[in-house]
Amino acid sequence: MDTETEKIVRNRVAELLNEDVEAFVVFVRKETEPRERITVIKGPEEAEKVALSPLSVNNTARVLLEVVNNFDGKVGVVAKGCDSKAIKGLISEGKIEREKIHIIGISCPGIVDYRKLIAFSPEDVIFEDGKLIIKPGDKEIPLEEVIHDNCRYCRSPSPVIYDEIYGKAREPFDGTDDDEIEKLPADERWKYWIDVFEKCIRCYACRSACPMCYCTECLVDPVNLAISPMSTAEEKAAYPRFLGKTVTPADNLFYHLIRVFHHAGRCADCGECERACPMDIPLRKLERKLQKEIKEIFGYEDEDIPFLAKLDIIPEGR
Ligand code: SF4
Ligand code: SF4
Ligand code: SF4
Repeated sequence: MDTETEKIVRNRVAELLNEDVEAFVVFVRKETEPRERITVIKGPEEAEKVALSPLSVNNTARVLLEVVNNFDGKVGVVAKGCDSKAIKGLISEGKIEREKIHIIGISCPGIVDYRKLIAFSPEDVIFEDGKLIIKPGDKEIPLEEVIHDNCRYCRSPSPVIYDEIYGKAREPFDGTDDDEIEKLPADERWKYWIDVFEKCIRCYACRSACPMCYCTECLVDPVNLAISPMSTAEEKAAYPRFLGKTVTPADNLFYHLIRVFHHAGRCADCGECERACPMDIPLRKLERKLQKEIKEIFGYEDEDIPFLAKLDIIPEGR
């Protein structure tokens, strides 16, 4: 994403908002905020706020999913490679209608991992003339030094679905996404994950950030079927026994196993879950392991038709 791409996208967003697009999910840059934020704009005059850079970190699919049905007309969205994979998945699972959206695809050079800039105040990091600059002093930081780990392994930096496309993508990764933990004996792997999950405080930020976690009633956090002190004995007997909400190792392990299995073949590898986690839990490691198994067993690749459709669990385009 360079300054030229940003200008082109601003112009296209303004044009489309003058035509048949009612609202646009975009990134904006505000002087008063350190990070580029996803927002929804509705008028062409707002398009001049549109920003695109390696600081455009979050997944726009999550916001698109939340707002798309608030509008009668078309909703536009700016989508990097991983955003587009999530959008493709959401279309295939019947959560978003393809005809209802206009996708400006962005071929992506990668995004910044703010945790690698911990030594700086976020407001001191800016993107100017195609470069990441630390203020004061105007020191340039090569993107590769502070890039998000998932971008290093990104197989689809260019969008997999779009109406128009701009920008220059990084080289897609075509090796094996090996992980040191995978090579450990089973008992050591088990200990590693038990220790990791013990840190989880069950804040569910990973679930809220994930574009593919959209159930209105989550298995781990039941609302209508929750057992409360007011529940009668009959209700308690009738309701399924959901897992406990404590942060004991057993409950935490169960939560994470359910979460990762619900993403089998559906994870866009956008890294939002890991970024959202206040306890630095390496959620992507587990997600990638599962996607690797899916590929070995079913031959499924990110760019293929959506996985659940392939298994006939959900008809494609439903
Ligand atoms: S995972 Fe790929 S598409 Fe997503 S931000 Fe990183 S490089 Fe861009
Ligand atoms: S599980 Fe994590 S990496 Fe995968 S789609 Fe959800 S937020 Fe993105
Ligand atoms: S965001 Fe981190 S701490 Fe919160 S529930 Fe998810 S893994 Fe646990």
